[in-house]
Amino acid sequence: MAVAFQSNEPEYVLKAKAYQRSYYLKHRDKKIAYQREWWAKNKDAQNAKRRKPLELLKCKRRNIPVTTKQEYNHRYHVEVGAEEYLRIKIRALQMISKETIPTCQRCGETDIRLLTINHLNGDGNKENRKNRFNFFIKRIVRGERSTDDLNVLCYNHNAEYEYIRGRRHLPTNWLEVYKEVTDDGGVPSVSVPK
Ligand SMILES: [Zn+2]
Repeated sequence: MAVAFQSNEPEYVLKAKAYQRSYYLKHRDKKIAYQREWWAKNKDAQNAKRRKPLELLKCKRRNIPVTTKQEYNHRYHVEVGAEEYLRIKIRALQMISKETIPTCQRCGETDIRLLTINHLNGDGNKENRKNRFNFFIKRIVRGERSTDDLNVLCYNHNAEYEYIRGRRHLPTNWLEVYKEVTDDGGVPSVSVPK
């Protein structure tokens, strides 16, 4: 059973609405013709105001015009994503080392390309496999991850730490092997940890 719509609007509003409706029906063709004419005249200006497709947008931060979506994505990754990553990495290293310019705790290397985060208690691989390095450094910067069990090392000394911790091993007779291969030409100048 259909129930008729009961309007609570006062009489004069209903009257005005009825008048507007009859006015529209009376002048409908004229209105449509006027709108068509207006659109033909203002079409270009109106379309120019519309949102552009993504590939026509300029690379937001660097204001780089691109022609294809692929190029946009590539440039965005290289010039915005990589920049963001570097910024977060520097901040994370600063927070861990508590230095303005982060350095390797073993050799003092300051080259940001060579520096990484070392897990003092191991299991860094596990954490990064689960969360990816990107998220790991983001969580440090946001303060969601404590830095107590971390320090800054270069990649070489990060690998060395694995030997010190005993996560990686040389064979026990490594010195004999070394001498054999170098034709007894001496021993390595650096002490190799166990
Ligand atoms: Zn180092």
